[in-house]
Amino acid sequence: MDIAFLNGSFLPKNEIRISPDDRGFLFADGIYEVVRWYKGFFYDMTSHMTRLKRSMKEIRISWAEADTFPDIAQQLITANNLQESPSLVYLQVTRGAAKRTHAFPFPSVTPTVYAFAMSFRPDSITMASGIGVSMQKDIRWSRCDIKSVSLLPNVLSFQEARERGNHECIFVRDGLITEGAHSNIFFVIEGVLYTHPESENILSGVTRKNVLRLAREAGIRVSETALPESGINEIDEAFITNTSSEVAPVISINGRIVGDGTPGRITTILQKRFSGEILAMKV
Ligand code: PLP
Repeated sequence: MDIAFLNGSFLPKNEIRISPDDRGFLFADGIYEVVRWYKGFFYDMTSHMTRLKRSMKEIRISWAEADTFPDIAQQLITANNLQESPSLVYLQVTRGAAKRTHAFPFPSVTPTVYAFAMSFRPDSITMASGIGVSMQKDIRWSRCDIKSVSLLPNVLSFQEARERGNHECIFVRDGLITEGAHSNIFFVIEGVLYTHPESENILSGVTRKNVLRLAREAGIRVSETALPESGINEIDEAFITNTSSEVAPVISINGRIVGDGTPGRITTILQKRFSGEILAMKV
């Protein structure tokens, strides 16, 4: 039986009830976070906590017990017997349940806090051989830096990419490549690693940040500069990053082969450095 967390209690997931007046349900008025459990530890919980608090601040939700999240996540792993399996813990915080009106509830209500854990294993074959992505117009809002649960544009775009036989949708806004529907994207051109700079047009990925650090540590030249859509003709390598897939090589974009159609040299170095870091943390 799956155990989940709701507003201070750990309960069988199938007993969890959330109000139909919850603003997460009515307005997607909430934020979320996803952390990865690697059999013994959460990867970079500190950065996930920083982003969680920032997301809440930006949308003016206050969950006073936010600092208890690492403990909640750990308890979910234990309660679901996931200590020995690679897993993800999902957390969602909404503004709470109140009579439906756009304005924030007054007086304010307590936020709804929901979390669950699930066993997860990245698709290692795809991670080794690489994925295809499609480039699509960025139809999202202008605050993509907030990890909002309002993901309809991401859902529709990702589905379209899937139906075109691809594993991710890469967004293009004003002629510039921003990020994926649930990942950040990197390119290599003549040995330099490019990715979109932090801005309101991308989510500041925890994996993005750590991959940039690993690249700098490896002596790879890095430029946090957005690639124009036309720059796609120049690229030697590409990869996406996120908490679940870590570093996933991109071997085709809109059906056009990247490099020689296999994971590139710098991509492979960064994949190895990332998994090396995880292995070293396991001691
Ligand atoms: N960009 C978007 C839109 C995302 O949804 C995600 C993760 O879900 C990322 C980037 C990557 O973020 P992280 O590396 O923190 O998982």
